[in-house]
Amino acid sequence: MTEYIERENQKFKSFMKDEIDGGLMEFLEKEYGYIYESIVDEEYIIEYPDFSTFFELTYDNKVVGFYTTDTIFDNKVLVCINEFYVLPEFRSNKIFLYQIINLLQTPNITVVLRKPTRIVVDILISNGLAFEFADNLIFTYIKFINNYGSVFVNNKIKKAYHTIDSKYLGLNVMGNVYDYKHCMTIFDDVNEIFVKKPSTICFSMPRRYDVKQYNLVPKLKKIDKNYLRQIRRNINKNRDRVYEISTIIYNNIYSGLNVDNLIGTEDMLHEYTIELLEEHGLTEDDGQKIRSKIQQALDEEEILPNTIRRRFEYLLLNPDADALAGEDDTEGVCPYCEGEVAYSLETCEICGYNFYKDADEQTTDDDIQEREIDEKTQLEVGFLESIDTDVYDVGEVFDAQFEVAANEALGLIDMYQNEPLRINIEEVHHIKDGLVLDYLLENDYIEQKQNDNYDEYVYKITKKGRRHYKQNPITNLYSSNLQGFDYYKFKKYYNDNIADTKKEEIVENYIQNIEATAISQNDYATYNQILLNNLLTSRNIQGDKEFLIQMLKAMICQLNEYKLAEDKKNLLPIKFEMDNYMQLFDVINEDYDLIELYVKAYNDIELEDLKINKEDNLEALQKLAETKDLLRFNLAIMESSDDE
Ligand SMILES: [Zn+2]
Repeated sequence: MTEYIERENQKFKSFMKDEIDGGLMEFLEKEYGYIYESIVDEEYIIEYPDFSTFFELTYDNKVVGFYTTDTIFDNKVLVCINEFYVLPEFRSNKIFLYQIINLLQTPNITVVLRKPTRIVVDILISNGLAFEFADNLIFTYIKFINNYGSVFVNNKIKKAYHTIDSKYLGLNVMGNVYDYKHCMTIFDDVNEIFVKKPSTICFSMPRRYDVKQYNLVPKLKKIDKNYLRQIRRNINKNRDRVYEISTIIYNNIYSGLNVDNLIGTEDMLHEYTIELLEEHGLTEDDGQKIRSKIQQALDEEEILPNTIRRRFEYLLLNPDADALAGEDDTEGVCPYCEGEVAYSLETCEICGYNFYKDADEQTTDDDIQEREIDEKTQLEVGFLESIDTDVYDVGEVFDAQFEVAANEALGLIDMYQNEPLRINIEEVHHIKDGLVLDYLLENDYIEQKQNDNYDEYVYKITKKGRRHYKQNPITNLYSSNLQGFDYYKFKKYYNDNIADTKKEEIVENYIQNIEATAISQNDYATYNQILLNNLLTSRNIQGDKEFLIQMLKAMICQLNEYKLAEDKKNLLPIKFEMDNYMQLFDVINEDYDLIELYVKAYNDIELEDLKINKEDNLEALQKLAETKDLLRFNLAIMESSDDE
């Protein structure tokens, strides 16, 4: 008979990593002998000995397993479950599943699983948290996390990928799709660090336990480029279905979160609610008062279903607290409990207050301006006013803008077959809405289908359309090198200069040309657009020293453009595109001296007006390098400039 370690009232223990001597297996052997032996007997392989916290899993007042987590701050707080183990004799009790659902319902955090075994995937499937949407392809509601250090390649597919720079090996990647046959998570390399083409999917290596258990080696050898393409097609084809089902799962997870289930009814509070009330010296009458306060707060959306419990705990300690919502709008302070709050949270961590309570009402009348179109030229009025009519003919400007919009729409439709066009391409290029798709349909460049599930159309490119797309060198040069600049200006420059310039040099010459003009005219916006464009099209690898210097340079200049602007209303201190580079601060923190890179970046700024605020900006970027939280960073800068 196993002598289980007992824990009263299901109270489990947890340990931080530094409270534990030696590795995870040593710790288990010393403190939880029976769990250690079971792992060894089963030949289960602990693949992630690292963790920040170790938690016991209890059942029936016994310790029957454990799980380990890391906390990752990556825009949001991610709780990453690295390893978990339940003794075989307790596996039918859904202990781990309840733990996960509990975590999912916790406000302000996102739960992810580190490359789980197939057993875990089976548990998720049998409990409705994952489902098969195509042959051997599983959609999982809880994302699986992995890093570039363990992506899978074999001889047949290695040409689809770059050799990966060692700097990236620790970067995290996440995915919602799982290849059941090969026990691998599938993910999109959105940073394009590993893939040569963005449409190529990536695999994580299977767990070593699964490789052995399911004899995967021969199957893994057979994976080829066709298989990669087949998976991409299957994923694209089933996107809508996956979306629908994930909505259903979401509703299932949160549907149990109501006052009756969590606290009790008007007639009868739950037994454990009454116990808790007693512990806090409160009566059942007090409990009913608390209950109705919670119900009212929920009805008014002052709290959310997943913060009911939190509000209850707060009211146990502060039973007389009353609704204060809306009366106090001091920044950084919760209007209900007056506790201090961090910027990017959705709900108060102390009392459960919903910070987005009035969000809908605020956005309706604020800042949303209708685009005004000039009926004669079909161009946006603001855009029209910026055209120098001594140099450019308005009719030709329209033709150019239309041409690039049509071509980019074709490119998007080619990349996302059978999907709606999600970008308002006309708006991007300042022309009247509704022109482009009609033109592409009339010329048989695309086909359209009504999507059965939604009231919208999906599109597919035709052979003729693809030919047309490839035959347009100016727009293609522009789209792959100069997005964010005016196309009509580039087109004119191209036509004026192509006779005596090599095609390969024309983009570079053009950039040098507009850069010189921007510097001489103190045109901050264009100069910054050039710096951003240089990053996007850089031939340097993203983690290289030169790239990092250019990244910091772009950040300094954007910050200073913001600080110098008189009207900051539509500006961000650092543009949201830069969010893609936040992970590179890991590389800086590990391999470089931020101050050294910063000084080089600062000295490299050619537009003298933007060479200011050296110390302030360094201090700000040092903070950003720690948190990598661009949203919070921008909010803090915006707020401090409001005070001035
Ligand atoms: Zn609060």
